[in-house]
Amino acid sequence: RREAVAAQRHLPPETVDGHRMVLNANVATAAEAGAALEANADGVGLLRTELPFLTARSWPTRAQHTAALAPVLRRLGGGAVTVRTLDFADDKLPPFLVGERPEGQALGRGLPLMLAAPEAFGDQFRALLEAARTDAGPTRKDAGPTRRDAGPKAGGGAAPDLRIMIPMVADVSELHACRGILYRTAAELGVEAPPLGVMVELPEAVAAADELARTAAFLSIGSNDLTCQLLGLDRRDPSATPALAAHPRVLEAIGQVVNAARRHHRSVSVCGDAAAHPLVTPLLIGLGVDALSVASGALDEVRARVRGLARDDCAALAAEALTLSTAEEVWALVRRDCP
Ligand code: PEP
Ligand code: MG
Repeated sequence: RREAVAAQRHLPPETVDGHRMVLNANVATAAEAGAALEANADGVGLLRTELPFLTARSWPTRAQHTAALAPVLRRLGGGAVTVRTLDFADDKLPPFLVGERPEGQALGRGLPLMLAAPEAFGDQFRALLEAARTDAGPTRKDAGPTRRDAGPKAGGGAAPDLRIMIPMVADVSELHACRGILYRTAAELGVEAPPLGVMVELPEAVAAADELARTAAFLSIGSNDLTCQLLGLDRRDPSATPALAAHPRVLEAIGQVVNAARRHHRSVSVCGDAAAHPLVTPLLIGLGVDALSVASGALDEVRARVRGLARDDCAALAAEALTLSTAEEVWALVRRDCP
């Protein structure tokens, strides 16, 4: 089975009725970037940057960001890369932030902490902007969906086609604050700021989806956090599995975000692990997401899944799923209609 799906890597992630999905990779290391190239991903939809700094004793410096990023970007060559800014949270907490957590309270999410240290943000943006102009002059400003012809397969030593994404955004004022720091940093370096998008992974962001879609260059749904948030589960709870994104309450939220993105002509991706789950992929296609971003090791399977589905069937499936009450009912429906 593994070899059979790998043999189809050269084929587009297109449904049987001819709808081309964008299939991106989630990576954090050069090895994962290499695997994404090999599996013919369209681009990198999520480059996680906090992982090298989980034992850090202070906010990483610009040089530390550059040292961590360079090998990954070099491996990717000139492809489309969406880099996520540091995403420290309760489940990913470096020692220097432990003391920042109010006694007995969850830190929950790191964005407000990072916005309280704007120079830390500026250092990461500076490292990113410098990486993006390597060999290729200023960064490009064109937003829109990940270009299909500019994926990691483009290879070579060119600068990445960079986008930046902010995690754990709760409202548009946070996006404005991040954008202010990005624009200031870009002006200091004399380059154009790349497209800035947001992750939608908090219920507050779903509620603010219309405003966020109007202001951000693109949206990417973090189904790992969003599912836990909407269903009242801790991220570290073993019952918090990717398949739970099939819960009608989560599907409804994803549908709302897709509709907001449509109204403002923004692309919308799902970059949580649910994007790769065979019981959830058809629902996401049916709800109208443009792009799926999955672990490098899951690209072959997800491509094969997409190629076996019809978008019209997926849309009918999603509509029916929204009338159900539990994740179990939705799983049974998907097994019946999109086996
Ligand atoms: C998510 O929450 O779905 C996500 C992609 O981000 P992370 O898993 O890094 O929190
Ligand atoms: Mg998340």
